[in-house]
Amino acid sequence: MRLDRFICKHTEHSHQTSRRLVASGRVTVDDQVLTDPRHAVSAFNTIRLDGQLLQQQQAHYLMLNKPAGYLSATSDPEHTTVLELLPPALRPLLHIAGRLDRATTGLLLLTNDGSWSRQITAPEQKIPKVYRVTTAEPINPEAEIRFHQGIHLARENVTTSPAQLERLSDCSCRLTIYEGRHHQVKRMFAAIDNEVIALHRESMGLIRLDEQLQPGEFRELTEAERRLV
Ligand code: URA
Repeated sequence: MRLDRFICKHTEHSHQTSRRLVASGRVTVDDQVLTDPRHAVSAFNTIRLDGQLLQQQQAHYLMLNKPAGYLSATSDPEHTTVLELLPPALRPLLHIAGRLDRATTGLLLLTNDGSWSRQITAPEQKIPKVYRVTTAEPINPEAEIRFHQGIHLARENVTTSPAQLERLSDCSCRLTIYEGRHHQVKRMFAAIDNEVIALHRESMGLIRLDEQLQPGEFRELTEAERRLV
């Protein structure tokens, strides 16, 4: 939102007066005087008019080591959701940036900052997601080439972006994909006549799951991790 609109919304001043208040240097954003009324701000900036705090919302950026059996949803009548692993005070604020299937484990990001989660999940950003995959059958040596060429997903009539498969053993690999389509990894393996029996997300973009986090544990991202998106 533009700074002058923010002032207008959070005070009794008109839009025109708000613009003048900004231009005259009476408004600070994160303790810096800003005089451009068009400057973009969000609910998470600390904004003051004549030193008076107008509104400030604490931003949260969490990484959770998702255990199997928890649904990536904010509420569900039937299943336990990942939010139930978090403190009650945070639950109503947060949404999930990039869901995982109920049986999938590993890195799950949660936030109350919609513009940050849009960046990490926007398909055009092609953020790499790295999964450790365990399969029912030995992984065909051609899988690496097939996944690199792209797998056609009939339901959406799209071909997946070139993915990288690194074999770890006969029935396990590390797979990097660049989209987040529903059941994508399982459907890619189904297309080469194999079945995923365990799936664990290790990273999204440059954010890696903290190895200190036990399944079900979470922590706030560091400032550096948050900026990696
Ligand atoms: N692909 C899947 O099939 N499942 C997940 O949970 C994530 C990616």
